[in-house]
Amino acid sequence: MTNEVVVIGAGVIGLSSALELVRAGKRVTVIADRKPAETVSAVAAAIWEPYDAFPRDMVLRWSLDALTTFNELAADPSTGVHLREGVNLQREADKHAWWAGGVVAARPASPDELPDGAISGEVCTLPVITMPVYLEWLLQRCSESGVTFEWRSLASLDEVGHGDCPIVVAAGLRAGELVAGEKLVPVRGQIVRLANPGLTRWYIDEDNPSGTTYIIPRVDDVICGGTNEPGVTVADADPVVAEAILARARRLEPMLEQAEVLADVVGFRPGRESVRLDATEYSDRRVVHCYGHGGAGVTTSWGAARDVVRLVDGKPIENSDSSNFSRSTT
Ligand SMILES: Cc1cc2nc3c(=O)[nH]c(=O)nc-3n(C[C@H](O)[C@H](O)[C@H](O)COP(=O)(O)OP(=O)(O)OC[C@H]3O[C@@H](n4cnc5c(N)ncnc54)[C@H](O)[C@@H]3O)c2cc1C
Repeated sequence: MTNEVVVIGAGVIGLSSALELVRAGKRVTVIADRKPAETVSAVAAAIWEPYDAFPRDMVLRWSLDALTTFNELAADPSTGVHLREGVNLQREADKHAWWAGGVVAARPASPDELPDGAISGEVCTLPVITMPVYLEWLLQRCSESGVTFEWRSLASLDEVGHGDCPIVVAAGLRAGELVAGEKLVPVRGQIVRLANPGLTRWYIDEDNPSGTTYIIPRVDDVICGGTNEPGVTVADADPVVAEAILARARRLEPMLEQAEVLADVVGFRPGRESVRLDATEYSDRRVVHCYGHGGAGVTTSWGAARDVVRLVDGKPIENSDSSNFSRSTT
């Protein structure tokens, strides 16, 4: 039996899966028509937050698994992963982040840690991932581990080649180009990238009445967001929206007043009713599907990648508890 596996996709899901497969002793080829720096993954803010991805119990399991790995990677700054303290803000009584209980050492914010309008908040230390640096690091680790890359476009799984070895589809939003019946929804996200005036503390203010707001300070820049627009496919940034994002962010963090605006950026999250992570057969080949991570592809990456390895090996993965399937769980 061949030990070879083909992974389609060089975003955070494809590269993390490729590395985990190599660690499990596989010979891996990645096929992708966009290099890591050109993927949606490169646009991500990115903070560890299980945001807008389902089902929640599976997403939390993958995310906590990945959290352990990101915490380890943060020991080496060349990975682009840094641990930063920040505040997840609440604007209504008794409304807490559904995932915060899973994060060790989340504590209630003191009143002097809360900006105007917030009534409470959870303070915790989370991984902040500078995606251009991190994707390059993943790419390097893959290359050093013997992963080979074919930069080409596929119109169908019939074009994959490499005999009858298993295929991992990690094609993000475009999985429907390769898998019959799949239709993912683009979830548009517009963000503003600014020079970092010396911030380290992040803020997430999801229920801001003027629009969801987040401030993610990376090494040299700060990502301020942002929109979450299912089904909207406009690729150009809207300058009015960019101004509104900036105004909200500056109200939360006045140090951003003087920060230079570097770019307005738009990306499309791979939206799906629930993340697809299962195995099927196609032309006598095992096909492992891993896509639809919505707003949490980075957050879930390592946990999902480890389940990809199990599925490639024909092993079962822990399935969802249907009682936690609901989108409305808070
Ligand atoms: C504004 C914004 C902010 C975000 N912030 C965060 C955050 O803070 N934290 C977080 O966890 N997530 C965040 N996300 C979500 C995250 O970016 C995505 O969930 C994640 O990048 C999806 O990764 P992926 O590898 O599945 O897909 P992608 O990164 O899109 O990669 C897909 C790969 O598949 C290849 N491919 C597809 N089809 C074909 C084909 N037919 N032939 C050949 N190759 C193909 C592409 O070339 C590409 O290499 C954010 C997203 C946006 C837009």
